[in-house]
Amino acid sequence: MTSLTVIPLVSKLASNVIRILGCNPGPMTLQGTNTYLVGKGHRRVLIDSGEAGTAQVYTELLSEVLDSEGATIEHMLITHWHHDHIGGVSSIQKLLKSKNSKPATVWKLRRCPRDDQISEQEKSVKWQYLVHDQWIEVEGAKLQVKHSPGHTTDHYCLFMPKEDAIFSGDCILGEGTAVFEDLHDYIISLRNMLQMKPKLIYPGHGPIIENPLSRIQYYIEHRQKREEEILKTLQEKNEPMSEMEIVKNVYKTTPEHLWPAAASNVGHHLKKLHKEGRIKGQNGSWTSS
Ligand SMILES: [Zn+2]
Repeated sequence: MTSLTVIPLVSKLASNVIRILGCNPGPMTLQGTNTYLVGKGHRRVLIDSGEAGTAQVYTELLSEVLDSEGATIEHMLITHWHHDHIGGVSSIQKLLKSKNSKPATVWKLRRCPRDDQISEQEKSVKWQYLVHDQWIEVEGAKLQVKHSPGHTTDHYCLFMPKEDAIFSGDCILGEGTAVFEDLHDYIISLRNMLQMKPKLIYPGHGPIIENPLSRIQYYIEHRQKREEEILKTLQEKNEPMSEMEIVKNVYKTTPEHLWPAAASNVGHHLKKLHKEGRIKGQNGSWTSS
């Protein structure tokens, strides 16, 4: 497995951006979830909150940062419902209470109506719901909400136009490529992100991206390349194949522990190709048309 770039637990990345690692490294979270404290004044924005299992260590770190900055959290912006992004919310509210600060307003986008598998963790948070293009502003930072479904239906990025920067959540990662639920929506979100012409991306996992346009382009091309490889594999085999059999042919250089995630991505490619009439079959058994 290729080793990951080492990321310090706390890094000041710009005069108005401090990254605090969620302390939850793993195969899907890379170095852990990046959380970002944004703004310059007393009241700041926190983007994402890490996960419940490591919330205690994380909130200790966050507490030190807030103390040294003389800051509190006015808005918590959760990029999407996954547990490694929403899991720290209640611990952070407790931390703010212990500092005699007001609770933060916790924001996310609504999921689309057909997307109903809402976790207990998600239910336990008192959410305020954002809308696409809404602005969130604190001293030293102005952020615009950009709905970017694909990874999940409720996923959004935050665009900071003055800095030409995007907080990309899990749409673009600092290393490797991302998983997604809906390939069609995901590609559209990537194209929308290209149009914002960012000069810098602060991803939900991994190091900052200083050449964002070529990275976004790479993500789009990577998906097209995978699609072609999947089609070619099915054509050459010429008998029904499962998602995992396709993974073993197409993802030869990917470490085995990531194959289940790869199989999920392959499944989404297959659904898209099936919808387009380019392949035949159903879950677990696919053939070329
Ligand atoms: Zn994540």
